[in-house]
Amino acid sequence: MENNQNEIETESSKKLYEGVCDRFEQIASFVNLDAKVHSIMSQPKAEIMIHFPVKMDDGSYTLFKGYRIQHNNLLGPYKGGMRFSPEVSLDEIKGLAMLMTLKCALAKLPFGGAKGGIKYNPDEHSAAENQRITRRFTIALRNNIGPSYDIPAPDMGTNAQYMDWMMDTYHNLYGRKIEGKAVVTGKSVSCGGSVGRASATGFGAVYCLAEWAKGKGISLEGTRFSIQGFGNVGSHAALKLEELGSTLVAVNDHTATLVNPDGISSAELAAHVMKKRGVKGFQSSHEVDDVNQFWAHETDFMILAAMESTVTSKNAGLIRTKLIVEGANGPITPEAEDILHENGHHIIPDILANMGGVIVSYFEWVQNRNSEYWNSETVDEKLREKLISAYRQVEKVSAEQGINMRNAAFIESLKHLEEVYLKRGVWP
Ligand code: NAD
Repeated sequence: MENNQNEIETESSKKLYEGVCDRFEQIASFVNLDAKVHSIMSQPKAEIMIHFPVKMDDGSYTLFKGYRIQHNNLLGPYKGGMRFSPEVSLDEIKGLAMLMTLKCALAKLPFGGAKGGIKYNPDEHSAAENQRITRRFTIALRNNIGPSYDIPAPDMGTNAQYMDWMMDTYHNLYGRKIEGKAVVTGKSVSCGGSVGRASATGFGAVYCLAEWAKGKGISLEGTRFSIQGFGNVGSHAALKLEELGSTLVAVNDHTATLVNPDGISSAELAAHVMKKRGVKGFQSSHEVDDVNQFWAHETDFMILAAMESTVTSKNAGLIRTKLIVEGANGPITPEAEDILHENGHHIIPDILANMGGVIVSYFEWVQNRNSEYWNSETVDEKLREKLISAYRQVEKVSAEQGINMRNAAFIESLKHLEEVYLKRGVWP
């Protein structure tokens, strides 16, 4: 049986975890966070790590390593994505789970924070193998997830199809009870998903960007943007920003970098990526070998929608843009952030910029539990309302205290969690 599942931390996952923990410690001491809340929040409540065998198409078996980290459930059931990627590691998932707790608290959702994943590359497997891997993982986790306990969602390497398989597996295990559908969010609409969930994270990032531009008196018409990552979050952000009048001029993903000052059509690129699983091969004449040409290309906005720790002290100094929007989780290392602030760049932080996904996940969960189906206008209106309210609150704290938006967002989340802990007390 193939077995290559030792715990290996990549540099980027270690950086993400350390960055989240360092920021948490800084803000906890800045706001003088209650000592017990500080210690509870500093560690996840549960760290689940499992190994499970799956039969491959050729009849052989492979052992997979899966994770589910449940960071905190003070405000409601654990909530967070499932990432299927060879880069997945314990530290990465722990860092992302803590960010989910903070994001749900900032969005004032009745959810705690979690994250999970499997350490493997779904692109290297057939659809049948991916389905068996997902179902076997769901069975292994069955006593640790549930519509009122822990509700996974898509993340890197997973999409509505994977959520449909997870929901179907759980639904069958627990006797097809109606509420079983709410065990995961981000399902396809025909299987109980919400309209607007697939686009919510990317659109949400652009709603934050538009709010920032409005505050600065900048019209989006005629502006230019670059984007890293053209998957779920990146492609939807690009489509929405283009619709609002901005032009995509540079894009980078794991396959290639394209730079075209005359503009790159987001819709055509999205169709290409859907077929080819990457931007490579689209407008080949504008493909560049040196990724630094992407970082250094002058734009009004840069959207980071790939993965953690892609902006480091090595490339931060090259960036020439007014605003960076973190569609991805933890894309900027702490050292890079210092450089960006010194150079006068503004950053809309991940727990605010990419909260659109978990907001519409919450709408999906509510619809499933009430057997309701909302239309896209209702979903979009409610999404904007929740997101813009969180954005304005963070902006207010940032202005009042003279601090950057990331610190303001962390303060807002932690103060909310602290208030609830202090009112409820720690049982018994
Ligand atoms: P996805 O798998 O659909 O897309 C990931 C993109 O990143 C792809 O375009 C891929 O080419 C690119 N990429 C991967 N490795 C790269 C590298 N080394 N350099 C450059 N590009 C690289 O994933 P997604 O769902 O769009 O998620 C992207 C990010 O957004 C992740 O950080 C995820 O945690 C975060 N996020 C996603 C959601 C959601 O609803 N999907 C919600 C909140 C946050």
